[in-house]
Amino acid sequence: MASRTVETSGPRETESLGGELAAKLGEGDLVLVRGELGAGKTTLVRGAARALGVTGPVTSPTFSIGHRYRAGSLTVSHLDLYRLGGLEGEEPELLADYLGPGRIAFVEWPKEAAAELAGPRLRVTLSHGGGDRRRIEVEEPEVEPGTG
Ligand code: ADP
Ligand code: MG
Repeated sequence: MASRTVETSGPRETESLGGELAAKLGEGDLVLVRGELGAGKTTLVRGAARALGVTGPVTSPTFSIGHRYRAGSLTVSHLDLYRLGGLEGEEPELLADYLGPGRIAFVEWPKEAAAELAGPRLRVTLSHGGGDRRRIEVEEPEVEPGTG
């Protein structure tokens, strides 16, 4: 699996890293974004969404598990599963509206056990590095030819 770690020194830099990552993404792709509260997950997703053509505000989902944004012919989904204890007991369709063909999905606090969240295009892990510094690891799991 290819992996690299970068350090950013402010939210603008994290947004631009998000923008850079967006260039690797295509429809149907899923990006899992991990890290503590305030680590910059939403900030990174905002930068990626912007680069994909989302023009309005990109904010943390509060009253639902996710937001969906139009970006040309594409839907950019942004989920935050923090308050969702687990996916067992939830409707199987809960995530379905946000994932799959025609969409690029970013999931904060992914519940790794969820079958719907298997096979991500990228896995991003952010951590605090003191002050405004953040360490951001980007993993690109290998996708077998024909399956991705
Ligand atoms: P999360 O979604 O992980 O809880 P947010 O992106 O909502 O985090 O918030 C990150 C907070 O940290 C924002 O207030 C942002 O301005 C601040 N911040 C400071 N430095 C950075 C950085 N290098 N990268 C991202 N956010 C940063
Ligand atoms: Mg967030």
